[in-house]
Amino acid sequence: MPFRAIRADKTEAGQDVRFVEMDESELMDGDVTVRVTHSTVNYKDGLALSGKSAIIRRFPMVLGIDLAGFVEASARPDFNLGDEVIVTGYGLSETHFGGYAGKARVKGDWLVRLPVGLSRSEAMAVGTAGFTAMLSVLALERRGLTPAAGPVLVTGAAGGVGSTAISLLAAKGWAVIASTGRASEADYLKELGAAEIIERASLSAPARPLAKERWAAAVDTVGSTTLANALSQTRYGGAVAACGNAGGMDLPASVAPFILRGVSLIGVDSVQCPMPLRLEAWRRLAADLDRPKLAAMTQTIPFDETFEAGRRILKGETRGRLVIEIG
Ligand code: NDP
Repeated sequence: MPFRAIRADKTEAGQDVRFVEMDESELMDGDVTVRVTHSTVNYKDGLALSGKSAIIRRFPMVLGIDLAGFVEASARPDFNLGDEVIVTGYGLSETHFGGYAGKARVKGDWLVRLPVGLSRSEAMAVGTAGFTAMLSVLALERRGLTPAAGPVLVTGAAGGVGSTAISLLAAKGWAVIASTGRASEADYLKELGAAEIIERASLSAPARPLAKERWAAAVDTVGSTTLANALSQTRYGGAVAACGNAGGMDLPASVAPFILRGVSLIGVDSVQCPMPLRLEAWRRLAADLDRPKLAAMTQTIPFDETFEAGRRILKGETRGRLVIEIG
């Protein structure tokens, strides 16, 4: 049976990204075939959908960095027909066909079994963004930080990573300071658990080497001067989990927070995250995520509206998470 997919093809003019009909014989190699029911729109998906990004590393490519569905064929003893599974990262939409398709054939090593207590659509409400938020929280915890150390800053607060991070941290008792460029989202952020809202612009000017200590920890999705300001205002012995670059790839900071306050900068990567940490993060997401808050931060859209959603996320007009119903 043919199925619909969003595929990027290389053309003389650049990239042609559009809906196409595909069949199973066109799928890439792998030992498990998944019937995809849900996917998501992350910032990276928005870039790929625009047809102008360098994210795609081979053509043709089926887009979508996340997928959830059930196993339709398996050459693996550990995955059986009908098993509900998730794949995020691992080069989906970069080097391997991704989740914007009725079917995907992937390596069984990439599959995460749907955690007990999460539906496929909730798992995609989490998606790469929420998974990255959880990895950031785990990074801070592994550094020994607890709510007793002081407040935690979350930047890019109304975005997908930011919204999930706020919800997860607030549920664990952290006093969350949410930095946003959209004052209109203040009530939404407070509903997710933010104790204080600060204006994005207050963190975007060039940073001093050290400034008044304001938070014990931070989850930064923005990078650039925002990350530099997050570091310079982190309390003695604190840590910043850097997971995003919504404001830029650069880091115009000084070493002062590291050598004078013992502050740690921890990198967070979701794509090649090793399986044991992956499983731990999904276990914690299933246990800790407040379901009504997850629902409040999620909008579900039909497959047909994926391009429009991609345009909106690049313009910073979406809030929280976008789930796509593939079929
Ligand atoms: P979203 O677009 O949902 O959220 C990003 C948020 O950042 C926006 O909602 C906005 O928040 C803020 N923002 C946008 N542009 C700027 C700007 N120029 N300056 C300051 N703030 C800005 O994206 P995601 O939450 O999906 O992803 C966030 C970042 O994390 C991206 O850079 C993404 O590439 C990265 N990422 C990294 C991963 C990893 O493995 N390390 C995995 C997933 C994402 P507000 O309106 O509240 O200010």
